Amino acid sequence: MPEGHTIHRLAREMSELRGQTLRASSPQGRFTDGAADIDGAVLELAEGYGKHLLLHLSSGDSVHVHLGMQGKWLRSTDPSAPPLPQVRLRLTTDGVAWNLVAPSKCELLDPPRVAALLLPLGPDPLRSDVNLEDALQALGSATGPIGAVLLDQTVVAGIGNVFRAEALHAVGVAPRRQAGTMTESELRALWTVLQQMMSRAVEEGRIITVDGPNRLTLPESEARRVYKQERCRDCGAPVVIDQVGGRTAYHCPIEQPS
Ligand SMILES: [Zn+2]
Repeated sequence: MPEGHTIHRLAREMSELRGQTLRASSPQGRFTDGAADIDGAVLELAEGYGKHLLLHLSSGDSVHVHLGMQGKWLRSTDPSAPPLPQVRLRLTTDGVAWNLVAPSKCELLDPPRVAALLLPLGPDPLRSDVNLEDALQALGSATGPIGAVLLDQTVVAGIGNVFRAEALHAVGVAPRRQAGTMTESELRALWTVLQQMMSRAVEEGRIITVDGPNRLTLPESEARRVYKQERCRDCGAPVVIDQVGGRTAYHCPIEQPS
């Protein structure tokens, strides 16, 4: 599933449509009414919040997209080319077309419904308006293992399984450690790592947590230190695999002692 960096990068890329009048359609036919309401509006702002993409329109409404497991936006610089039949929402200007396929959510929301969508979400490490103290409070007061807490979008928004594994490894904390036992300096370190790791992933378009001159060309299987690794790439210890928060967790038993 795309993690927060994918959504924030999309918001940045789709900002090329900002200030432009959008033509909207639903070639698949499953969002015909919504597309009709979007058609002719101007994009005022594209933003990410956690794993949610919001396109705010001059009409006052906002397009809300959650990509889920399969969703993708496909960009084309030839708006005259016919779209794929499975495109749920197609947004075009004179020079570019953005085609949304297989989202788990695509809907048009008025401002109260946008507010209701965002209200339960925790702070997002990638947002510039995030409040550090709020974030530390949210993490430190959560109950349960920190590995489960990090995946709970109401505690902190935008983290998926890869960032969870790699950020906890970077700060030397085991996924099963109870969140409430973490010190303030550990929580600060975790938050800082999340911000740095996720920001870098926005820039690079993928999650790469190993260093080295060839890092940008590494295959996915070699780009992480513990996530889906047999051995920790730092110390060589066999990676421990278990279930935390309903997802498979990976950690190094040496650097992240229980
Ligand atoms: Zn290790």
